Amino acid sequence: MRLSSYFLPVLKENPSEAQIVSHRLMLRAGMVRQSAAGIYSWLPLGHRVLKKIEQIVREEQDAAGAQEMLMPTIQPAELWQKSGRYDDYGKEMLRITDRHERPLLYGPTNEEMLTDILRGDLKSYRDLPKILYHIQWKFRDEVRPRFGVMRGREFLMKDAYSFDLDQAGARRSYNRMFVAYLRTFARLGLQAIPMQADTGPIGGDLSHEFIVLAETGESGVFCDRALIERDVLSEQVDYSGDLQPIVDSWTAPYAATEEKHDAARFEALPPERQVAARGIEVGHIFYFGAKYSKPMGAVVPGPNGEQIALEGGSYGIGVSRLVGGIIEASHDDNGIIWPFSVAPFHVGLINLKAGDADCDAACEDLYGKLKAAGLDVLYDDRDERAGAKFATMDLIGLPYQVTVGPRGLKAGVLEVKNRATGEKEELTVEAMLAKLAAARVA
Ligand code: ATP
Ligand code: MG
Repeated sequence: MRLSSYFLPVLKENPSEAQIVSHRLMLRAGMVRQSAAGIYSWLPLGHRVLKKIEQIVREEQDAAGAQEMLMPTIQPAELWQKSGRYDDYGKEMLRITDRHERPLLYGPTNEEMLTDILRGDLKSYRDLPKILYHIQWKFRDEVRPRFGVMRGREFLMKDAYSFDLDQAGARRSYNRMFVAYLRTFARLGLQAIPMQADTGPIGGDLSHEFIVLAETGESGVFCDRALIERDVLSEQVDYSGDLQPIVDSWTAPYAATEEKHDAARFEALPPERQVAARGIEVGHIFYFGAKYSKPMGAVVPGPNGEQIALEGGSYGIGVSRLVGGIIEASHDDNGIIWPFSVAPFHVGLINLKAGDADCDAACEDLYGKLKAAGLDVLYDDRDERAGAKFATMDLIGLPYQVTVGPRGLKAGVLEVKNRATGEKEELTVEAMLAKLAAARVA
């Protein structure tokens, strides 16, 4: 992509409405614009990050055996009247009436809708287990939308739902999602810690929140430092095997949100392992048994013809919240520092002297070569001051900056800067390509 034609409306000044760093940087870097309180448009740069996060979430759901589908944003009120949640959900639910006076709502979650689909289409216990998911916009009319995309009213969520014949099966589905979540957040460059949590309005008794530690987090959390230091991607996972030992090893060390905090257990830890911090909830998994299948009549005939109510669980990831969450965890005074896996572009190519025939030709050549190496490139071909170009690149946080100028060209080198470490090196074209290709594979 050429910056001269890209829609990247960066702001020089700090927007006054932003209270936390991720919101400020997302506005300044031209990633989002607010349309109404808690409702955002995703501009091209922000949209690229959102799609990359979504894709990692999708790959890990698929690997864990979940199947992607897509349910609508608008739901009939009738489904929620059947489960008994229509009145309970209260003012957070956006209720709509169509031209025929039929009550509809903008879905805040999809337990009812999917339970209803399975109710009609599962014929036998042999059709189970199933885990289905979609990545779809949700609406919750939050009292206090704030912090940009972190607490929006319209937000993108991955929500999965599992259906099993019995509790042991439901536990296996829960464990699959538990492990998939650990892997997903790690691939996004985040250390997310599973914490015992309150089950809230969805109910049930087995529930974990996945929390990223950050000063601006909305929840108080307590955990054993051992959990912060673990690297899940170095651990082998076989989804066809028994996942219980992995889940046990992650849930044994102490970790809880303030609602579930057990001060005695926490204080029994050696002081250097006691971490009391704030955190951002990026995912939440629940086992809720027959909570929806019973009232909605989602039953299947078992082996002896008996009627078995489906055992369910639900599993959410805040895809749009994660964009802000990753920035909270990874930025400096100059701007965002994207982990390679979700960066909107991997490389920013900076032409220090746009209009100079040699610089232009060298940059065009590099632009082609970088793209051919499978890298996403943003080429700053604008006729702008060098300082402004560097500031924009630092602000938008691409992992690598490759700078081409007349002096380097004469010497046969270009400058490569690592955004995260600030380290700069002069490399030949071949050495630079090898270095970035290696970063892509890592
Ligand atoms: P919270 O406690 O933050 O209000 P929740 O417990 O109501 O969230 P869940 O029903 O567990 O949310 O939804 C699953 C995930 O969706 C959450 O873990 C979070 O990452 C995301 N999410 C929930 N509400 C919002 C929101 N208003 N804006 C952005 N993401 C959200
Ligand atoms: Mg939650």
